[in-house]
Amino acid sequence: MQIENQDNIYKVQGTKDTYDVNLEEKTCTCPHFLHRMQAIHQYCKHIHAVIDKEQQRDEETYDKIKQHLKENPKTTLEQLEAKFNPEAIDDLISKKEITLPTASSTTQ
Ligand SMILES: [Zn+2]
Repeated sequence: MQIENQDNIYKVQGTKDTYDVNLEEKTCTCPHFLHRMQAIHQYCKHIHAVIDKEQQRDEETYDKIKQHLKENPKTTLEQLEAKFNPEAIDDLISKKEITLPTASSTTQ
């Protein structure tokens, strides 16, 4: 999903239109949010996408981690966590998209 940031308003490219997500107020201008999700205090996928991006748990970050591992296969978890968001790394490990040599110092 294409996301652009302009003064706390994130322009999110949906399937047809571009919507404005306000991350501070957690609102979106898409019909699904305005007519359904807002009333039940849930986020639409655009808000989720912006939150993911802010937390660096988006596809771009995942790709960077995977690319880094491809180029540096001996990277340890500690080295990886120093460079990238640990939660994004956890996501990839739990999805079994990456495997890392376990460091005995951290597991015991
Ligand atoms: Zn939306």
